[in-house]
Amino acid sequence: MHDLMQDWEMRVTHILDHAARYHAGRRLAGRSAEGDRIDTTYGALRGAALRVTQALRRDGIGRGDVVGVMAWNTPRMMEVWYGVPGAGAVLHTLNPRLFADQLVYIINHAGDTVMMVDADLLPVLEAIADRLPKVRRWIVLTDTARMPATALPAISYEDWLAGTDGDTGWTEGSERDACGICYTSGTTGNPKGVVYTHRSNVLHALTAQARDMFGLASSDTLMPVVPLFHANGWSCAYSAPMSGAAMVMPGRDMSPAGLYEMLSLGVTITAAVPTIWLGLLRYLEENRLDLPHLDRVVIGGSSCPRAVIEAFQERYGVQVLHAWGMTEMSPLGTVCTFKPEVAALGPEARLDTQETVGHPPFMIDLAITDDAGRPLPHDGRTQGRLKARGPAVLRRYLNEEEDALCPEGWFDTGDMATMDAHGYVRITDRSKDVIKSGGEWISSIALENAAVGHPDVAEAAAIGIPHPKWDERPLLVVVPRPGRHPDKRDILDLIATRFARWQVPDDVLFVSEIPHTATGKISKLTLRRQLAEMNYV
Ligand code: ADP
Repeated sequence: MHDLMQDWEMRVTHILDHAARYHAGRRLAGRSAEGDRIDTTYGALRGAALRVTQALRRDGIGRGDVVGVMAWNTPRMMEVWYGVPGAGAVLHTLNPRLFADQLVYIINHAGDTVMMVDADLLPVLEAIADRLPKVRRWIVLTDTARMPATALPAISYEDWLAGTDGDTGWTEGSERDACGICYTSGTTGNPKGVVYTHRSNVLHALTAQARDMFGLASSDTLMPVVPLFHANGWSCAYSAPMSGAAMVMPGRDMSPAGLYEMLSLGVTITAAVPTIWLGLLRYLEENRLDLPHLDRVVIGGSSCPRAVIEAFQERYGVQVLHAWGMTEMSPLGTVCTFKPEVAALGPEARLDTQETVGHPPFMIDLAITDDAGRPLPHDGRTQGRLKARGPAVLRRYLNEEEDALCPEGWFDTGDMATMDAHGYVRITDRSKDVIKSGGEWISSIALENAAVGHPDVAEAAAIGIPHPKWDERPLLVVVPRPGRHPDKRDILDLIATRFARWQVPDDVLFVSEIPHTATGKISKLTLRRQLAEMNYV
């Protein structure tokens, strides 16, 4: 029997076509990079993205060409997000917080020939432009009137688009064509390039919008606070238009007050890393504010402390969706929603479950193995290497000669985890951060989450310190909340209520700051180096 179904390549442009056809008036609102309020629709977005496609074609940019973009989450970024792959080109999102050398490396490594940049971020590129020989077009994502003075041969977005009308079609191609590139932040060695295809992005967005994941519907308004340059923007820029959900793009103001103002535009679901939400919760408390529209909040990128889950759910009636993933997985791996087996539990047990990162959806296969690749039991206790496979999981990094898979065909996530009988995954550590004391593992993530449960603790990092007898012992590094002076013993006593005695850190070191990576995660590598300089390790 032959295939009697139609050919329909899974191209991301179909997503915008769908949104513009059947949700044409749905709102795309938010702030421009300059802070102006913007209110547009998916219908208008499609026309604007097609103008980008036309302008790229006019510049001779097409299939396989790489376009770099360094921009905040704005409605205009959505035009670029679809207009670049619409021309058959590949969108390379850039994190402005990377070090100059890393930016130079990834821009040259990916082969970017066009660079689009928000006006306030232009200095970041000006500082490295003479080291980017392949870039031949510089576009500042602003209007003619606001074009900043620059020594670069740059043009404003408005001028660049002059003469285009959007009266064209997308460049067609295979669903397996490259669509976007995102680099991992490279805590060791050079960053590595992950290339998404049109197909992997469409399949991944289908997964993301499912009820047991983000659960998106046309009645929702999604605000991605997570930047689109971080890990494929957690799929938000695909999964929202795909489901017909409206969008709010908050711009560059990520302050709690700025986000609160954007949330009041009727946002029902939003997504970001835990630190953003810690700030917002404090702001709500201090100003006695509520979250009347918000229904659920996706929290991932690093482990979400229980105190944050409790605050959102109990004080504000907002359901927390604790999520885990990584750039190499497009990025979603698991989301914590309640299967019937969990829904039936009492409130405390449900909260315990929410400290896991949930269960994998269809199209993600997960395994826990020992170092030799042998499967370990799914008993919720046995810790091993977390491995993944699926159609939106990386096979090989950009420009590498070999696949990045284990002999068994799995991608090793570099995370250590347990999985229970229902498929709920608990991330215990990154494999290089595990603390091994007396032959037993101590989860640094669990210690850190317990420490930030203390009201005077702003941030905590647990690190294994070499020990002559026990191999390693945990040290807790703590940043106190402003104006507070927590007591070491108090913090350790709090931890002792949830851990066995031998797991409780031996000491607490108070510091004014803990180093972070470009994606806002604790950089244990730098922290270890700092501790070594202080003769702690
Ligand atoms: P980067 O290292 O560039 O920040 P990613 O965003 O891809 O890149 O980071 C993925 C890693 O973040 C995961 O491998 C995991 O270690 C960590 N992570 C993501 N979500 C969670 C979570 N909910 N709990 C614990 N760790 C998480």
